Amino acid sequence: MDPHPNPFQIAQRQLDEAAGRLGLSPAMHALLREPMQELHFTIPVRMDDGNEEVFKGFRIQYNTARGPAKGGIRFHSNETVDTIRALSAWMTWKTALLDLPLGGGKGGVVCDPRTLSQGELERLSRGYMRKAAQVVGPDRDVPAPDVYTNPQIMAWMMDEYEVITGRHLPGVITGKPVNLFGSLGRGDATARGGLYTLRETAKAQGLDLRDAPVAIQGYGNAGQFAHQLGGELLGLKTVAVSDSRGGIYDPKGLDYQAVTAWKRKTGSVVGFQGADNVTNAELLELPVVVLFPAALESVIREDNAPRVKAKVVGELANGPTTPEADLILHENGIYVIPDFLCNAGGVTVSYFEQVQNAYNFYWTLEDVQSRLDAKMTEAFHSVHAMAQSQRVHNRLAAYMVAVRRVAEAVALRGWAH
Ligand code: NAD
Repeated sequence: MDPHPNPFQIAQRQLDEAAGRLGLSPAMHALLREPMQELHFTIPVRMDDGNEEVFKGFRIQYNTARGPAKGGIRFHSNETVDTIRALSAWMTWKTALLDLPLGGGKGGVVCDPRTLSQGELERLSRGYMRKAAQVVGPDRDVPAPDVYTNPQIMAWMMDEYEVITGRHLPGVITGKPVNLFGSLGRGDATARGGLYTLRETAKAQGLDLRDAPVAIQGYGNAGQFAHQLGGELLGLKTVAVSDSRGGIYDPKGLDYQAVTAWKRKTGSVVGFQGADNVTNAELLELPVVVLFPAALESVIREDNAPRVKAKVVGELANGPTTPEADLILHENGIYVIPDFLCNAGGVTVSYFEQVQNAYNFYWTLEDVQSRLDAKMTEAFHSVHAMAQSQRVHNRLAAYMVAVRRVAEAVALRGWAH
């Protein structure tokens, strides 16, 4: 078994299965199997010590049949072009599943942002936009935050784009600070949307979530808000959380305020008083009702999937489960809320942000949250109904709904039939 499966090959295998079920023509299948356009570039940055460093950057537009490409920018030291290709494919299926008038894209920079000063980070972010400006834009491709990028980085990139074009175009990027044309409710949208789908899962499966133990892998934007809102919205009891340095476990429950204060102070959740330390691998196998992978790809694989004890796996991360593991979880009766459904709250509110930017008129938090709830609930039921009627696992069902929509748009445009 490959310990580091190639995420793009996984994304292609997932598509192949859906294409077979949907009976797509060879030309349509071939078109949907590859990104439509890729930009690879270098970003020279002057570092604080006076030296120059050159970073590698990418922007990939996977498919734009249903509208402008949409997808985050990731800053990560292990970034590869195939990871970005996979993420851009998953964005295409995600926007289609949520029925947003958008396509799919993704970007990234190979770097370790934790070693960069604020000044270096700003120069890198502006450098990225200087190169990507030739292909992005509110009507072409709209980036957003992802792993290790945040609203401040979006603000620098938006500013750089406006300087380059000489125009006010805040809709070029989403996930901006609320005080700089961002949307209310974008910050917690990914976790909130995931919890809405978990609520619908519980109704569909007759599962009682009150005080249900939860484990969360990854304690960034998605993971931390899942901890906070899981308690507030559904009465969940988070018993384990982790970050890149390791995890903590307390079967009595972990207090959100105390754990986040500890992480702010020490830089990690590890060593939190009163909890046992666990590894990231152990966390996935804890006796919980809900498991939220909220970090990186391919963490649930053929080797550890048989030991997952959760009843529901809510994939806040992109691509956390390999295809082999999918089948094992399905056979074991574990209900997987697939990534491009579970974590679609982020792109849905990003889309709302674009709409508000275009109108230059801003919604209330209640408007954002109720529209998000409606979108997530509708998407959940389209997947659940497909899984039931076709007797397939949820990821394949989600693919079938989404790929059919993209294929219809491709055919109507006359690109392939
Ligand atoms: P983030 O940068 O805010 O947090 C990432 C977290 O993962 C950090 O706590 C980090 O310590 C942890 N981490 C990194 N490497 C790890 C490892 N090897 N093992 C365990 N933990 C590790 O990122 P985020 O925005 O929360 O994104 C997390 C996942 O959610 C990604 O897969 C991302 O693509 C997905 N996602 C995020 C959004 C969003 O709106 N933020 C939307 C959709 C999907």
